[in-house]
Amino acid sequence: MEKNQLIELTIKDQSKDGRGIGSCDGLIVFADGCVLGDRVSARVTKLKKRYALAKVEEILEPSEHRIDDACPYIDECGGCAFGKLKYEVQLELKERHVRDVLERIGGIEDPKLEPIISMETPYNYRNKAMLAIYPKTRSVGFLGRLSHKVVDCHECRLQSEAVVAVADALRASFDDCEDAKKIKNLVVKTSFSSGEVMVVPTVEEKDLDLENLIYAVDESINAMQSFDDGFEYYLSSVALDIADNNPSKRHKNRAEIIAGRPVIEDGLLGLAFEISPYSFYQVNPVQTKKLYKKALEYAALTGKETVWDMYCGIGTISLFLAKSAKFVYGVEIVDAAIQNAIENTKLNNIENVKFFVGKAEEIITGEYENGNIRDIDVIVVDPPRKGLDRLAIDTMLKLLPKRIVYVSCDSSTLARDLKMLCEKEYELRKLTVVDQFARSYHTETVALLCRKDIDNHI
Ligand code: SAH
Repeated sequence: MEKNQLIELTIKDQSKDGRGIGSCDGLIVFADGCVLGDRVSARVTKLKKRYALAKVEEILEPSEHRIDDACPYIDECGGCAFGKLKYEVQLELKERHVRDVLERIGGIEDPKLEPIISMETPYNYRNKAMLAIYPKTRSVGFLGRLSHKVVDCHECRLQSEAVVAVADALRASFDDCEDAKKIKNLVVKTSFSSGEVMVVPTVEEKDLDLENLIYAVDESINAMQSFDDGFEYYLSSVALDIADNNPSKRHKNRAEIIAGRPVIEDGLLGLAFEISPYSFYQVNPVQTKKLYKKALEYAALTGKETVWDMYCGIGTISLFLAKSAKFVYGVEIVDAAIQNAIENTKLNNIENVKFFVGKAEEIITGEYENGNIRDIDVIVVDPPRKGLDRLAIDTMLKLLPKRIVYVSCDSSTLARDLKMLCEKEYELRKLTVVDQFARSYHTETVALLCRKDIDNHI
């Protein structure tokens, strides 16, 4: 194969940025402009030792998996790498990837997956958006799929109407709100149960005049049609995220509330949760309910158990499990999230939980070494994409809980961690993929690990 050569490819897989993957002359080729199942002719644009990049020139035979998606931004925008595929095919690809990493990285032979938990409405499901902004071209939208260019999006298949309303207002404000141009990006959080909208602009200086922008956002949201569920969206909170040059300090930051409430409230599984600007909250509330129910099923609580919920965010899993456990301890690194967790405990009249702020690996190891932890029945972990820290794994292997429930947003690091946990003490008993992110490459997985020497009756 040579650079600029025209090659024919049959697309067998799809990458996280939406390129089709095929092979030619024994080399893997990532081709832009095609989907799983297409047969294409493509021009080689880059040749490396182990792979090549190519750009499709002609689709020779279109895939039967394609859907006619009317989103005008689908080719440029980075949000929907799987957006041209039928939903069933997206799910098959996700399951295939999970199975592949479990085998390849996790060393688990022929892993048994429970049926994937799919979405009933695989679009407009997100309650949070990060709007990218480029005032020079009056662009407000999302980062490009294969570039860092801001794609100016006037509609979106992932986001709610409220996000589109905020983006419209911001775009329109560039004329009469000079300081709106100084916003680096803007997070919109919405509550699908109360209709509250929180906007969090990231800025580099404090004293900006954003009054006209806030009026415009408020008006734009109020002008929306009321939502199907009977509530109306309303602007409830504006918080400034003042960019800190030192990213390692960010988890200690507090956003400055410049209008409205310091939190928004969402309801989930009969519980109420306050969420502040920097706190993590799952982005797809419909699927989150199913995910948490699966985690509860795997935890197999009878009311007598001591549970640790590591990486607990605002305490959602902790409080949900507390109803069925003796006591739950939650650990989370972001201070503001733990403040929410403590408030949420009071809000829901729950008493059998305690929260710690700090690195999960350090807190649990410290508590273990100080002799404060005796028997733990269940540890739930829900780490960020980088997975578990080695220290967390080592301490878990000393604590030896009966069951570990691993909630993961990155199946590669899940597979790596399972390999270490399953070397001696644990075995993978069950695993379910829960689709939280239709149209994108991302997967959410929940796994149950049981001690090999204990009959867990699950
Ligand atoms: N279980 C929660 C949050 C999961 S997201 C939920 O379902 O909402 C992962 C969380 O881990 C985030 O809140 C992040 O702030 C936190 N986190 C990241 N690194 C951490 C660490 N080393 N120790 C504790 N928490 C951490």
